[in-house]
Amino acid sequence: MIVMKFGGTSVQDATCMDQALDIVLDKIDFQPVVISSAMAKMTDSLIALGDLAKEGNREAAASAIKEMVERHKTAANQFLTGANLESCLEQLTSLGEELRSSVKGLCILKQCNLKALDSILSFGELLSTTILAYRIKERGYESTWLDSRKLVKTDSNYGSANVNFNQTNKAIKDAITPKKNHVYVAQGFIGSTADDQEEKNITTTLGRGGSDYSASIFGAAIDAEEIQIWTDVNGIMTTDPRIASSAKTIQKITYEEAAELAFFGAKVVHPATIQPAVGKNIPVTVLNTKDSKGAYTTISSEKSKMGLKAIAGKKNITLININSSRMFNAYGFLSKIFSIFEKYKTSVDLISTSEVSVSLTIDNTTNLDKIVEELEKIGTVKTEYDKSILCMVGQDLWRDPQLIARAFRQLTQIPIRMISLGSSDTNLSFVLPGEKLNQAIKEIHSEFFN
Ligand code: ASP
Ligand code: MG
Repeated sequence: MIVMKFGGTSVQDATCMDQALDIVLDKIDFQPVVISSAMAKMTDSLIALGDLAKEGNREAAASAIKEMVERHKTAANQFLTGANLESCLEQLTSLGEELRSSVKGLCILKQCNLKALDSILSFGELLSTTILAYRIKERGYESTWLDSRKLVKTDSNYGSANVNFNQTNKAIKDAITPKKNHVYVAQGFIGSTADDQEEKNITTTLGRGGSDYSASIFGAAIDAEEIQIWTDVNGIMTTDPRIASSAKTIQKITYEEAAELAFFGAKVVHPATIQPAVGKNIPVTVLNTKDSKGAYTTISSEKSKMGLKAIAGKKNITLININSSRMFNAYGFLSKIFSIFEKYKTSVDLISTSEVSVSLTIDNTTNLDKIVEELEKIGTVKTEYDKSILCMVGQDLWRDPQLIARAFRQLTQIPIRMISLGSSDTNLSFVLPGEKLNQAIKEIHSEFFN
C-alpha cells in the first residue's frame, strides 16, 4: 500500500480535489491511503473563529461558520450527484451544526483555550475529507472515510500533541486492510487523547502543518511501500529558485541531508515529521500536484553519493565573539558560556574556538541583552548583527579537497567571517555579511550545478 498526502492548496476547491484524485486513482493498484489537509486557509479561518469565541462575538462567529460550510457545499455541488450529493451535503450540514453548537457555548463563556481550539480546528480536515471520500465513489471506486481521531492517539498537550505510537499503530493496523479498487481517506493533523490519559478521546492536533506527520504515522503503521507528499513544488531543489533560476530538483536525498536543509530554512518537509518513516526505512517522495509526471525528490535512508546536493541560506544571524585571556589553558570555559545560553533558552547554531576566544552564532535574539550582560563577566564581548549562514549540504564534503577549493574560489570578493566544516558529515557552513548571501549562493550554485 502507499500513503498519499495532499496539502491545503491541493484540495482547496472541486477542481483541485479532482486533480488530486486523478493522481490517486492512477495509483489505485497500490491501494492508496489518502491523508488530506483542510482546504487552503481553512485552519487560519478556524483559528480566527476561536478568537471570535473569546470575544463572545456570536453573530460574527455564526456567519463565519456559515461561510465555511457554504464553501464546502459549493465544492460538493460541483462534482457530486444523486445519493452521493445528498449524503455528502447531509454530513457537511451536520458537521456545521456540531461546530456551530460548540462555538456558541464558547461564545457564551467568552473563552477558547487550546483544548477547545483543537476541537474547532479539527473541522477543517473533517469537512475536506468528507467531500473527497464521496467524490471517489462518484468516480466509480470504493472509498472508506476514516476518523483519524479514533486512530491517532496522543497525550493531552493540546495544540501540539505527542503521539502514543503503541496505541496508534495498533488502531491504524486494525482499521486498514488492502482492498482492490478502493481508497481509504483520513484526516491529517488531528487525533485524540489516548487511553492512558486522564481525559480520553478528546480531540487534539499535532501542530501546524501536521498533516505530513500524519502521513508518516499512517505509512509507518501499515508498513507502506512509499509515502508520497503532494505539494505545489517539484520536490526539494538544489537551492531556492528565486535566488538562482537554474535551481533543479534533487532526485535523491538522505534524511540527514534533508534535515540540514530544513534547519536552514529550505522549504521542504520537516525532518521531524518523517521520523516514523525513517524508523521503518520507508521512502518519502515529495511531488507536485500541478506537475504530477514532472521531477520529484525521494528522501530515504539509502546512503547517498559523496558530493554537493544543495545550498541553503539563513539570514538575520547574530554573531557573538567572546575574548578572554583567562581562557588560556583553562578548562570549563565553554561550559560556562553555554550555560548562559541554556539559561536563556537560546540555541547556538555554529561555533568556532581558539585559545583565547569563542565565536558563535544565534538566530533568536529575544534575550540577547541579558546574554551579553552575563557573558561580559567572562570576557570582552563583541556582537555583530545582520550576518547570514550559507550552508552547503551533501555527503562527506570534507573528503573532496577540490570541492572546498572550488567553493572558496567563488567567495573571493566576500569576507567570510566564520567557517564550520566537519562537525557533521553533511554540511559545510560559512558566516557572511547578510547582504552578500544571495550573491554567494548564486555563485556557488552556478559553479556546481550549471
Ligand atoms: N491544516 C493544518 C494546517 O494548516 C495541517 C496541515 O495542513 O498540515 O496547519
Ligand atoms: Mg495547511
